[in-house]
Amino acid sequence: MKFDYLIVGAGFAGSVLAERLARGSGKKVLLVDRRSHIGGNAYDHYDDAGILVHKYGPHIFHTNSREVFEYLSNFTRWRQYEHRVRASVDGQLVPIPINLDTINQLYGLKLTSMEVEKFFESVAEPREHVRTSEDVVVGRVGRELYEKFFRGYTRKQWGLDPSQLDAMVTARVPVRTNRDDRYFGDTYQAMPLRGYTRLFENMLDHDNVKILLNTDYREILDVIPHDKMIYTGPVDEFFDYRYGKLPYRSLKFEFETVNEARVQPVAVVNYPNEHLYTRVTEFKHLTGQEHPKSSLVYEYPLSEGDPYYPVPRPENNELYKKYQALAEERSDVLFVGRLATYKYYNMDQVVAQALSVYARIVGQKRAEATRAQAVPAPRPVLASPASKRRRAAVTVSLTETAVALKGA
Ligand code: FAD
Ligand code: UDP
Repeated sequence: MKFDYLIVGAGFAGSVLAERLARGSGKKVLLVDRRSHIGGNAYDHYDDAGILVHKYGPHIFHTNSREVFEYLSNFTRWRQYEHRVRASVDGQLVPIPINLDTINQLYGLKLTSMEVEKFFESVAEPREHVRTSEDVVVGRVGRELYEKFFRGYTRKQWGLDPSQLDAMVTARVPVRTNRDDRYFGDTYQAMPLRGYTRLFENMLDHDNVKILLNTDYREILDVIPHDKMIYTGPVDEFFDYRYGKLPYRSLKFEFETVNEARVQPVAVVNYPNEHLYTRVTEFKHLTGQEHPKSSLVYEYPLSEGDPYYPVPRPENNELYKKYQALAEERSDVLFVGRLATYKYYNMDQVVAQALSVYARIVGQKRAEATRAQAVPAPRPVLASPASKRRRAAVTVSLTETAVALKGA
């Protein structure tokens, strides 16, 4: 059997492309991952206590793209969820992103929205050019708040000072003058109702998609015939580190289950200035699961280990450009996703990138290509109960999507 595509990596990048190529274009796809599961870093599972946890740290879905949200809604129903985070600063748990309540709580003030803007203006050290992650924060809220909330966290997370990182890193976290304490401002914020892994299972449930786990693609590259390849792993590894290693930041995840139903006031507590870990996540806030116990994860940043974060700074971007040039020479391989394009992307950005790549492959506009259902999966006449159940789930999800969109 010959495959049209060999896809390396069953995370969002690889799985979206596998789904689109199979269901949208009738291509035969082999999806390979060296891990023992699908879902990439978004993989979730039930732990020993029966609590749904995210193996690679908290994953909260948020996007401004209706197209991405509608596309994923074909494979899951959603749980309405707006993410909230507190930072442990000066012995208090205060809202982060910094907002009106953060300032009033921290300094024992009773400022209004207008007054807090004046406060920020009085402490800010405006920068002519905002280039680094330090410029972003100090230029907006001044040095004291920068040191309380950002400097220590960033040094821990990245092993670098904010002045050594591109502005986009800390610019991910806004500053507000109102009382909005949501972590994200996106139009669509929700969690997959039965988890990410279930979403991936539904996405990949097509007869043209074969999945091979626990396998590095190099083990099968020369043995399994295929026309083209899509690669979603680290780009420097693909080229055997020809120009040296691209820095990726790693993490150690330490899980804990406690005999209490709830421990934290919100899903995530950040520790900018204490402990070796950056943040603690209590999963039941994210998933809405009812359980007498609770599971949490502590994130300890590491320089070595599984590559989780590209490190956005000028010299790394320059090094990536050299790998990008090599990648562009390979007309037989497409490079997609957070590791293969060395971009600090969220899940929705990876989905959008994969949908754009698919649209280019089929020579259509993205919106058309995303909706195309041209080739229905060839089904056995007598469907097994499991596949009937799965199809029922997909049908239901379309109705739920309409509800979710109305509510969003
Ligand atoms: P990945 O998910 O990394 O998938 C790549 C896959 O390729 C992996 O499974 C890997 O095993 C496989 N692979 C690599 N090399 C090979 C090889 N040689 N052979 C076979 N297989 C290979 N995004 C959000 O939107 N919201 C969040 O809240 C959020 N939180 C995050 C928290 C953490 C701690 C981390 C690390 C990331 C978070 N993200 C979040 C980002 C999100 O994880 C990514 O955007 C997304 O998972 C990237 O998908 P991907 O397919 O590009 O890569
Ligand atoms: N950050 C910080 N303090 C915080 C939260 C974030 O300094 O309390 C900085 C830090 O550099 C972090 C970046 O902002 O890496 C982006 O934060 P985000 O929560 O988006 O990180 P992610 O969820 O991607 O790990």
